[in-house]
Amino acid sequence: MHCRKDDPNCVALATGKIHRAAAWHCLVSPQIKPHLRRTANRSTSLLTPAKPPRRALFIVNPNARSGRKPIDPIRKALETGGLTLVDAAPDKDESISDVIRRMRDACDLVIIGGGDGTLNAAAAGLVETGLPLGVLPLGTANDFARTIGLPPVPLKAAELILSSEPRPIDLGEVNGNLFFNVASIGFSAELAAELTEKAKKRWGKLGYAIVAARLLARSRLFTAYVEHDGSVETIRTMQVSVGNGRHYGGGMTVEETATADDGRLDFYSLEVDHWWRLLGLLPSLRKGTHGRWNDVRAFQTTQVTIKTSKPRAVNTDGDLTTWTPAHFRIREKAIRVFAPATPARAASV
Ligand SMILES: [Mg+2]
Repeated sequence: MHCRKDDPNCVALATGKIHRAAAWHCLVSPQIKPHLRRTANRSTSLLTPAKPPRRALFIVNPNARSGRKPIDPIRKALETGGLTLVDAAPDKDESISDVIRRMRDACDLVIIGGGDGTLNAAAAGLVETGLPLGVLPLGTANDFARTIGLPPVPLKAAELILSSEPRPIDLGEVNGNLFFNVASIGFSAELAAELTEKAKKRWGKLGYAIVAARLLARSRLFTAYVEHDGSVETIRTMQVSVGNGRHYGGGMTVEETATADDGRLDFYSLEVDHWWRLLGLLPSLRKGTHGRWNDVRAFQTTQVTIKTSKPRAVNTDGDLTTWTPAHFRIREKAIRVFAPATPARAASV
């Protein structure tokens, strides 16, 4: 049953695209036509079906700093905006990635409420399923949300999930562990080890500063072997960091022009003579301009291996996840995230 070429309801006639549409014009069945008319009226592709109601897997980490705040206004905004929320939480011994894998056929996107650690726990599931990610920044620092230009207010971030398109975002990987922001060995890994969940919740960003100051006073340099782009360098360092995005550690910056979609890892190593030199470097570390200093080694790469004489812990966005020797690599465009179109990229030009 085909439509007639003079059918006033035909989308090809309605949009004046008869020539281009000629091949399929007469093949459009009456059942499909009304649907195509709606599509054409919205000025989208003629062959793109209307968006079905989207089902969002909704996972909020109750242990995130703001995870226990009332979530109802956010839920309501998302549902009013056309999403059907599918609530899920990890069963015993399940990770957030396991939940995403288990629920992959029951949803069209995944919304995660939590901080950077929560996002890292979801990374493998997102990569495997290809489901786009919406972020509700409910953590202590929310560095990844800042990197991709999300509003810091969770309700605003929810509205952005409704109004934006998902865009490709890189992830970092170290020894098979995915991370959104930064992985470090040395000082900040020790910092993560000392900063308990309880302290994070109680003190927030201040917690980092208090514990950092205590640790600084007893930190020492260590030897590391850095292999990248065909060279091996032996360095004495207080900390090496490998960043995927721009922000980390609640107000620190990997590199001022780094983005989470530039296909690059940003490496830096703090090779300072005395710990108090870090105090001088601190303003630059916050701005991401420390690569200009003589006692900071910095470069961009797509993969790097770091070896140490004794195994050292690797901190990925606040959690200790692996040990040296550590092989880092970029996972370019590994996931898609609802985010403003180009804030990160524009800033890097
Ligand atoms: Mg990058």
